[in-house]
Order: sequence, then structure tokens, then C-alpha cells
Amino acid sequence: TMDTGSYVDVPKDLLKEIERLEQLFSTDTAKLKQITEHFVKELEKGLSVQGGSIPMNPTWVMSFPTGYETGTYLALDMGGTNLRVCQITLTEQKSEFDIIQSKYRLPEELKTGEADDLFEYIADCLMQFIETHHGDTGRLEKLPLGFTFSYPATQNYIDEGILQRWTKGFDIPGVEGHNVVPMFEAALARRGVPIKLTALINDTTGTLIASAYTDTKMKIGCIFGTGCNAAYMEDCGSIPKLAHLGLPPDTPMAINCEWGAFDNEHKVLPRTPYDIIIDKDSPRPGQQAFEKMIAGLYLGEIFRQIMVDLHDNHDVHIFEGQDISALRKAYSLDSSFLSAIEEDPFENLSETADLFQTKLGIHPNTHELELIRRTAELIGTRAARLSACGVAAISKKKGYTSCHVGADGSVFNKYPHFKARGAQALREILDWPEKTDPKEEDPIEILAAEDGSGVGAALIAALTLERVKKGNM
Ligand code: BGC
Ligand code: MG
Repeated sequence: TMDTGSYVDVPKDLLKEIERLEQLFSTDTAKLKQITEHFVKELEKGLSVQGGSIPMNPTWVMSFPTGYETGTYLALDMGGTNLRVCQITLTEQKSEFDIIQSKYRLPEELKTGEADDLFEYIADCLMQFIETHHGDTGRLEKLPLGFTFSYPATQNYIDEGILQRWTKGFDIPGVEGHNVVPMFEAALARRGVPIKLTALINDTTGTLIASAYTDTKMKIGCIFGTGCNAAYMEDCGSIPKLAHLGLPPDTPMAINCEWGAFDNEHKVLPRTPYDIIIDKDSPRPGQQAFEKMIAGLYLGEIFRQIMVDLHDNHDVHIFEGQDISALRKAYSLDSSFLSAIEEDPFENLSETADLFQTKLGIHPNTHELELIRRTAELIGTRAARLSACGVAAISKKKGYTSCHVGADGSVFNKYPHFKARGAQALREILDWPEKTDPKEEDPIEILAAEDGSGVGAALIAALTLERVKKGNM
């Protein structure tokens, strides 16, 4: 990466802006440690009877898989971008599975439209999947389905999901505060889709369980994608808000943290004026403070806000005399735009220049290109380093000094340097000594997860049916 030392020829006023941004986006070790300490307390508060701002939702996933689960299940993933339907067969071989899947586009207008339209569209996709893969739907036994619904939901049972609030830009009226399962089942019934919802699952819980299926060192499941969140296995004895159920204290219960809501009260996170604008202009101001600084939905938008600000409001007047109307369109740059900037291999940043020209009709000069690159680095680095605070906090709370963390999502998998920057931040927060051999594993490693909303959802359906058979809830 570039450091300020390489800005020898950069005009003074531009350099001043770069330094201002560096200040705003900095997350030094002391800050990360402070955030982590506060995070641990907030995780605990979320488990308490009075609650806190992190929901810490019990998921009714009450065991890790053994690897010997079997059977055929459907899985539906209603993500932020796509709908994915899978059929997963957990085979007799330990930790092995077969999968067939189809992806369907989730039309943008359904995300802010009517609930019935959304669920009917989903029902149609499921029907299409079944017709393709099973032929005649009339004679089928109802197939068990794990529904990955990746939004904060209250669950008194595993086949219930009372939506706490929409996140990730969804805004469908009449769903918040309601159980989505009957809405979903009504749409299935209207279309005659032969499916029985067995479990409603968060993507992080699916990721945790899918990863633990093949690697027993996996203790935390994370998503760094359009949204950002984590799940881990708690003991019921440490969940005061479930004490009234009288479960044995050592009963495991996966907790969907919903850590995107961390610091909604703005006590520790280093928010910039840009984060504040994004929050204010979002469909849910005041919500998901942590997520809005980290998740893929927002990274490009943070960048865009900065560029517009430097054009309009500061002494530097970048892109002077150019038409920046394309840049003014909210959410027009996604995180892949920043990825491409950070990936530009050329000394002269010619790919970044091309990108600005084709996507925005802007021709940045040499120094503006350096500012652009540095801004992308600052946003990407802050996201990775703040993410590490969440992982460190769960590890500290659970006393994990050595484990694996399964992570999925477009930012984790595709954003350049995200993994290395996160690993470096974990090292700083947890005071690990420098590695002597670069090939050496870190005590806590964040690794690419197994497919949580496919295999994870199927496993959770299997674990649920098994538990029901045994008569436990
Ligand atoms: C949702 C979580 C989800 C995360 C990652 C957040 O916006 O609230 O439920 O796990 O995105 O998809
Ligand atoms: Mg997903």
C-alpha cells in the first residue's frame, strides 16, 4: 500500500485533505482495543433480561453437527441480491454432501414493495425449482426446507421469525413486528408448493453450522457481505433472558448477534461526517451503526460521499470544471468499484482512470488518482479493522484463545486485502507476538466458510427434525 511518503509532488491543499481523511478514518491499536472492550460488554448486555442495542437473538440451533447427518433438504436463501434455491443431500459419508442449486434475480422493486408480492415471487421460484428437479409436484411428500432469512428476527421457536427491523436497504411495510413464516406459508399454499418450512435461519448461523460440519475448530460464523454480522454457540446458563425456560445451564444455543447494531448509541466508533450522512439518508436512521461502516452495501457510498464533498465543499475542488452529475447519484458505486480501485496494479493508476471515465464520465488528474486510491484504502482498511473488533469481542467473551472463524460474503471473499488487514488487526487487539514463520497459523484464524445458506440451512433442518423426533422442543 501507499504511504504519505509517496505524495512528494502532491499539491499542498490536496495533501491536507488526504491527511484529514487519514485522521478521520484512522483506527489505531488503542482505539481497536477500546472498541473491543466495549463490544464485549454490549454482547453481554444483549443476553440480559433488559437487553441492549445488540439483539443477541437465540436461534434454537442447539447443537453442532456430528458430520453423520443424512437426508435430502431444500434450502432457500433470501439474500440482499439474489434468491438461491438448493437441494442438498447429506450423504452417508461423514461431512459430505451433494448439492444442486438455481439462482433467481431478486427484482429491486420487490425490496421496497408489498410483502405479498415478495413472498409470492419467492413461492414461484421454489415451484419452478421443484418442477425442474422433481417433475410432477402433485404426488410429492412435502419437502423440508431451511429458509435463510438474513435479517434480525425474534424466534420463540425455530420455525418462527418475527422481523425486528429490515436492514440492507429493504423497506417493505407491514412486516416489521410480524412473524414472516405465516406470510411465507400462505404464499406457498396459494401456489400449491409442496414444501414444509422446518427452520428459519440467519445466514451467520448457517455459516457457523456449515463450517463446523467440516472443521470442528470452527466456533464463530461471520458474514462480511452486503450486510455484516456473526453467530456463535452460547450456553443457556449465560443467557439470562432465557432463564425462565429452565433449560440446563450447559445446553448449547446458537446466538445470532446482529452485531450490525453495535454502538447505535455512538459511544465508541470513530464516525465521520460521511457516516453520519449515510445514516441520516438511509431508510432506517439510527440503526446498524457498525454495519454502515463495514458492510458492502455502504463502502462505495462512503467513497462517493467523500468525492462529492471534496468537489463541492473544500478548498481543493477536485474534478474542477467537470460534470459530476453521475457521481451525485446515491448508491451508484458498489463495493466492487472500490475493490477495482484497490486492485489497480499500475503505478500510474490507469485502470482507476479508465473506471472513472467509463462509469462516471470523470477524468481525474494524476494527483486526484492518488487521492482516490488512498481514499479507497482508508475505507477498506477501516472496515477490515473494525470487523476484527467483533471477532475479538466474541472470542474474549467466550474465552477462546485458539479457534477458527468461518467467514463468507462478497467483502470477505472479494475485497482486496480484507483478510490480511483483519488478521493484522486481530493480532494487535489480542497482543499476539509477530510470527516467526509467515506460514504459521494465527491462534484465531478467520477462514473462508462452507456454504451457510445452502449446506448450513440443510444441516439445521436435519438437526431440527432430529430434535423434534427425540421430543425436545
Ligand atoms: C442482517 C443480519 C445478516 C447480515 C449479513 C444484516 O444486515 O441484519 O441478519 O446476518 O446482514 O447478511
Ligand atoms: Mg447470503
